[in-house]
Amino acid sequence: MKIYNTLTRTKQEFVPINERRVGIYVCGPTVYDYIHIGNARPMIVFDTLRRYLLYKGYEVNYVSNFTDVDDKIIKRAIEEGVTSKEISERYIEEVKKDMKALNVMEATMHPKATEEIPDMIEMIKVLIDKGHAYEVNGTVYFRTRSFPGYGKLSKKNIDELEAGHRDEKHALKVSGEDEKEDFLDFVLWKPKKEGEPSWPSPWGDGRPGWHLECSVMSKKYIGDIIDIHAGGEDLIFPHHENEIAQSEAANDVEFARYWMHNGFLRIDGEKMSKSLGNFFTIREIGEKYPLQVIRFFILSAHYRSPLNFSDSLVESAKASLDRILTAANKLEELLQTAPDKELTEQEKEVREGLNSFELKFDEAMEDDLNTADAISAIFELVKYTNSNITSDSSKQLVIAGYDLLKKLCDVLGIITAVKKEKLDSEIEALIEERQAARKAKNFARADEIRNQLAAEGIILEDTKEGVKWKKA
Ligand code: AMP
Ligand code: ZN
Repeated sequence: MKIYNTLTRTKQEFVPINERRVGIYVCGPTVYDYIHIGNARPMIVFDTLRRYLLYKGYEVNYVSNFTDVDDKIIKRAIEEGVTSKEISERYIEEVKKDMKALNVMEATMHPKATEEIPDMIEMIKVLIDKGHAYEVNGTVYFRTRSFPGYGKLSKKNIDELEAGHRDEKHALKVSGEDEKEDFLDFVLWKPKKEGEPSWPSPWGDGRPGWHLECSVMSKKYIGDIIDIHAGGEDLIFPHHENEIAQSEAANDVEFARYWMHNGFLRIDGEKMSKSLGNFFTIREIGEKYPLQVIRFFILSAHYRSPLNFSDSLVESAKASLDRILTAANKLEELLQTAPDKELTEQEKEVREGLNSFELKFDEAMEDDLNTADAISAIFELVKYTNSNITSDSSKQLVIAGYDLLKKLCDVLGIITAVKKEKLDSEIEALIEERQAARKAKNFARADEIRNQLAAEGIILEDTKEGVKWKKA
């Protein structure tokens, strides 16, 4: 597979460190509010990368953090008169619900910054010992010029940064940052302010800097070297540049081999963001559309291109997705009635013909995760199955068409199967079976049936008149 590596600004053949196991680290959200559709873009895109690697037979160690200590969380906690922990825990739960609704797989590990403080302190100690960091009045700074590769990801050079800095110098003096040795230095540990969450450290009570979190959590859950590090393009500088500086200075090995960055989701040509106020939360959108429409909409563009959000574009994504789902449902129905007979010669050819769509799909995905072209391959497949697989087709052929369509949609995280509700008669038969099981003192089976029904949203009530049921 070829991946566009931000570090080299070229598409490169992806070669993992271990032959079959890939380590991916994706910078996760700061949890102080519901996520918006822009935040969902990296989640969906890199989940699709993960699914593609799984489909290709790799094992994937997928790590994505929650930043659960941050100025924005503290601000929100003060506004609501609750603790920061209450805010972050609440929104971690909400983000997880949104991710599930977008069919984003749970990470192998979802570390939280506040649970990794001892390791952060350890990394700071290493950096101080090696001369890469220093403490002033309870703040620990990274000594940026001590790391020769600074700027290699963002392609910024120190002279340019210096020129920009001269204009900002006055502002920095005012903010009290002039205690730093050098304007380029950034914070690894900041001292406690009244009312803020803090942890003890050799430099006094305080909390870690944002960039440090990811260097530490990726090291702990993946290792010193990550195969793929990913996030939105706004993270390239300074966040990822600083992560590289910290990690490479501490570990003396290359930090991440491939850097992938998604483009922005825009609205009227501007980045969708909380600060601009031009955002829609996943919750709001979920009231208007099934969320897989949003997943499909996001994957319909290449992940590095900017993508404009508008109602009409989402409507057209919905219509396109419906075409795929209708074809899948039709095949699913044909499966029930298709005759179980030998494939005819012509059917064999039709079945052979299916391979070309999988090849096309793979070719697109191999080319830097081109999901837009991969979706085109699915459309071609849909056209092909619609015209070549009918109610006369033999079961084997229907299965081949259905399985392929389902497999390719699965890679994109699009669910094709229609969830059929149980018929009333099926429910009643199960309830009868449960009564019989209870009579026979087979309580395990009785409980099993109750749980099975509960999982489908059917609640049983034991009344004097017998067992009643209702849908939750
Ligand atoms: P934040 O919580 O702001 O740190 O953002 C979490 C993730 O969402 C980061 O990877 C950001 O780069 C990404 N992100 C934020 N806004 C957008 C947007 N409008 N389009 C695409 N990605 C975004
Ligand atoms: Zn990060």
